[in-house]
Amino acid sequence: MTLLVRAGLLVTGSQEIENGWVLSRDGFIAEVGSGPPPPADEVVNEPNCLAMPGLVNAHDHMYQWATRGYVPDGTLFEWLRALYPVWARMDAETVRVAARAAMARLLLCGCTLSTDHHYVFPNGRPGIFEALADVARELGLRFQPCRGSMSLGESKGGLPPDSVVEDEDAILAHTEEMIGRFHDPKPGAMCRVVVAPCSPFSVTPELMRDSAALARKHGVRLHTHLAETLDEERFCIEKFGRRPVELMEDLGWTGDDVWYAHGIHLNDAEVDRIAELKTGIAHCPSSNMRLGAGACRVEDLLRAGARVGLGVDGSASNEDSNIAREAHQALLLARVRATSPTALDARGAWRMATRGGAECLGRDDCGSLEIGKCADIACFRVDDLAHAGIDDRVAALALAPPSRAQTVIVNGRVVVRDGRLLTGDEDQIARDIAATSARLAG
Ligand SMILES: [Zn+2]
Repeated sequence: MTLLVRAGLLVTGSQEIENGWVLSRDGFIAEVGSGPPPPADEVVNEPNCLAMPGLVNAHDHMYQWATRGYVPDGTLFEWLRALYPVWARMDAETVRVAARAAMARLLLCGCTLSTDHHYVFPNGRPGIFEALADVARELGLRFQPCRGSMSLGESKGGLPPDSVVEDEDAILAHTEEMIGRFHDPKPGAMCRVVVAPCSPFSVTPELMRDSAALARKHGVRLHTHLAETLDEERFCIEKFGRRPVELMEDLGWTGDDVWYAHGIHLNDAEVDRIAELKTGIAHCPSSNMRLGAGACRVEDLLRAGARVGLGVDGSASNEDSNIAREAHQALLLARVRATSPTALDARGAWRMATRGGAECLGRDDCGSLEIGKCADIACFRVDDLAHAGIDDRVAALALAPPSRAQTVIVNGRVVVRDGRLLTGDEDQIARDIAATSARLAG
């Protein structure tokens, strides 16, 4: 099965080709070029579009689509304390409906590869992880779900109430079971599992250590939240006598198989250390601004050679799942932080949204349009009112982020055409999430 995608401008990650094309065969890119294209079983012709590698979402909590809009003006800890009791009522069906909304929105906005950091299994409630994997398959999204966890309840000095945490042995056993059922290590995999205790203030150091050992035994990746807020930094210093990055080093949570969400409150030595150890950072600018958490030192991390991707973070602290908008926000926030318009340019922002995210997720088969890579492609219109007449189309899409993609291809298969989802009914998904959100609110 071959698919040919033609575009007014093809951005591969290393080249920008006028009237370029990509030929995919059985889900992988077989040829890239310009001029007369080869024949194909199916042809997508988008002369008014810029085609680029499918966008990569390096941090998310999809279940939060069912709890958007809560605590609109709170800090992370205030927001979490208000939401934990609501999340305690979630079951597999709630997560299924929320993930369908989150993934539909991601695909409609040009995202083709996403992680999901799911850490709420209230007292071990069943079927939740399976629901996430099911929905990704149903909608056709390339997926890297994290089996997250929380074990440090309030009674043991943690932030979350005891009603949302789990027993540590049960967490490790279930994580191993999910790796066995869903993890595919092969190039072009549509599902890979990640091990991901939630944060220093919601799990014990023992669970962090045991989780790292389990992940390395199975060759899967590690993910957690780190250095998101100054409240977290104070918690780590008071409870463990360590700054968050020092704590991670002690626990074996560094290296090229680890990526952190946020990485905002880093000192100079920590920036260099993260780059040196090839540990990734998923930068989530909208969520960080929504919660007033601070601004990630993106330009310093990139200058030091660190791997930096972009994430939407959970939609309860963003209210949207549009990676193109995160590229826009990252560009602006980096310039505000540095008080300099050269802190991050459009091409740098798109690199984080594609190759940078793929590096965080350990996907050397994704993030660019080159022969042998996964055929994951996003096409955005550049002739619409928001973009028409702007000469630099790559900059246009970063400065005025598109509200949806025109065509999206995952694994050589068209999943969005003319801005409409082909693998689900967008209006029904919206009705379902409204009903589920109302029921959860009680
Ligand atoms: Zn998060």
